Amino acid sequence: EAKSAGRNNWQVYAEEMNERVQQKRKLETDLRAAIRYQEFFLEFQPRFQIDDNTLCGAEALIRWNHPVNGRLEPDSFIPIAEQTGLIVPLSDWVLDKACKTALTWPETMFVSINLSPSEFERGDIVSRIGAALTNSGLAPHRLELEITESVLLDDAAKVLDIMSSLKKIGVRLSMDDFGTGYSSLSYLRTFPFDGIKIDKSFIADFVEYDTSHAIIESIVGLGRALSMTVTAEGVENVNQLNQLHKVKCDQAQGYFLGRPMSERQFFDSCITDRQ
Ligand code: C2E
Ligand code: MG
Ligand code: MG
Ligand code: MG
Repeated sequence: EAKSAGRNNWQVYAEEMNERVQQKRKLETDLRAAIRYQEFFLEFQPRFQIDDNTLCGAEALIRWNHPVNGRLEPDSFIPIAEQTGLIVPLSDWVLDKACKTALTWPETMFVSINLSPSEFERGDIVSRIGAALTNSGLAPHRLELEITESVLLDDAAKVLDIMSSLKKIGVRLSMDDFGTGYSSLSYLRTFPFDGIKIDKSFIADFVEYDTSHAIIESIVGLGRALSMTVTAEGVENVNQLNQLHKVKCDQAQGYFLGRPMSERQFFDSCITDRQ
């Protein structure tokens, strides 16, 4: 305290900035090493068909087992990976691992992965997806790519071109966190999505608020009209699930149905138990 009292605001600010830059640089260095030493792992969260309660697939979610800091969640390192371009090798690893894992599941099941906006700007995402499918031998229709609205903001013509090529390969495209951006509706008209994932913020107050109920019911209707599969994410209790069933939402994902879990645990508790 006594020490900082002697410094002016600018100095304190500069030091804090410097610290933040250092931290970021450290994380970037660590991230590079982590890719080399394979410190990442995937967790799989089950997705269910609501009307008959069958397991239809799983979302692959990345985690980092940091040698010093322990387990890190994606929100703490994906942004740095995006800024530094490391997202491309990272995402290649995710793709490869997710496809190979899905090969061990029944053929009726898909795996979904999340793509970052920056992957649409740099690198050849279409050939990367193609390569992952060829290397693993997974049928393209068993891979779903989750894309958020921020991807679509940049160069719409370019993104549309990429998405059309991905559709030709035969993978499924879904719009993640639907309803949180500015132009969700116009994007649905412009881009060839197969599915919509309703953002969990709508599901959270679904049961309490009539407005959220109306919004969800409308999104489900919209999905039906456009022949898109509608998935609710963030389902945390049975009331929400019952309501989703009532409004005929197609699929659901959330802690109530299953948390993200290791590949092994997913196989043992979700797949083996149901066969
Ligand atoms: P997302 O794709 O929207 O994934 C859903 C997030 O909600 C996950 O957080 C999941 O663990 C969490 N979740 C699932 N069910 C519930 C629930 O019932 N309640 C609540 N409150 N949360 C639930 P997670 O794993 O921390 O991932 C955060 C975000 O990081 C993801 O959001 C996705 O955008 C990004 N991400 C994860 N893995 C990857 C990856 O491999 N590549 C890229 N580019 N992004 C990834
Ligand atoms: Mg997602
Ligand atoms: Mg989401
Ligand atoms: Mg998200």
